[in-house]
Amino acid sequence: MAQLILLGTGAALSDATREHTYLVVKGEREAILIDCAGSPVQRLLKAGVALDQIDHIILTHHHPDHIYGLSVLLLGMWLAGRKKPLSIYGLADTLRATRALMRAFEWERFKNFFPIEFHRVPQRYHNAHLVTAEFSVSSAPTRHIIPTIAVRIEARASRRAITYSSDTEVLDDVVNLARGSYILVHEATTLDTDSNGHTSARQAGEQATRADVKKLVLVHLPPECDVRAWRTAAQSTFTGTVIVGKDLMRLRF
Ligand SMILES: [Zn+2]
Repeated sequence: MAQLILLGTGAALSDATREHTYLVVKGEREAILIDCAGSPVQRLLKAGVALDQIDHIILTHHHPDHIYGLSVLLLGMWLAGRKKPLSIYGLADTLRATRALMRAFEWERFKNFFPIEFHRVPQRYHNAHLVTAEFSVSSAPTRHIIPTIAVRIEARASRRAITYSSDTEVLDDVVNLARGSYILVHEATTLDTDSNGHTSARQAGEQATRADVKKLVLVHLPPECDVRAWRTAAQSTFTGTVIVGKDLMRLRF
C-alpha cells in the first residue's frame, strides 16, 4: 500500500515544531519527493525512505521555503555514492531558479556528480506527465504570487490518489485536479481570512467538498497554529475526515 509522509507542515514563517511544507509518496520500491525544504536527508531517513529510492523530485514553485533544501539533498545523495540520474520536474521559472541554486554551489566542481535531468512542466493541466512503475503524476496551475503547480499522484495498483495543492488561492483548477482523490493535502495558511495567494482552513474545507475527496489534510500552517481551531474551521465546510498535518505524519492510500 502506498504511503504519504508529511516531511514538514509549516508555512513560509514556521515555528520550532514544523519544518517548511514538503512531502514524500512512498511505494513498495520507489518514492517521489514533492518540494524540498528543511533537513531532507534526516527527514527522509526518519520517514523510512532510502535516498536511492528517490529518482524523481517535483518542485511546485521557486519560493525559498519550497526548494531551499534541494542543494543539501543533492550533496547528501552524492556523498552517499549515488551514480544513477535524478529527474527534477517543474515549471520553466522553477527550473531556472533550481539551476541558479546549483550554479551558486558550483556543482561542476563536485567530482563525478551524478546526472540531473530537468523536465519542464507546462503551466496548464497536464495529465500523467510522469508515469513510473508504481505511480502516475499529473499537475495543474494554481493561483499564487509566482507560477506554481498543484500535483496529483495516483498509485497505479490501487488507483487511489493524493492531491497536493501547494500554495494557492481558492481555484477551480485545483478542485478539478483533486476530483475523487482519496486524500487532498491543502494549504491552510490562515484560519478564515482571505489572504493574497493563499487559502484559509475554512476555504480548504470547501475545496475538499467540491473535489469530493475522502480526507483533507491541512498543511502550510502558521507559527503556533491552533490545531483545534484549524480543524473546526475546515469541518464547518467539509464533512469528511479532517486532519491537521504534523511533521512526519504518515497516511496510507
Ligand atoms: Zn509560495
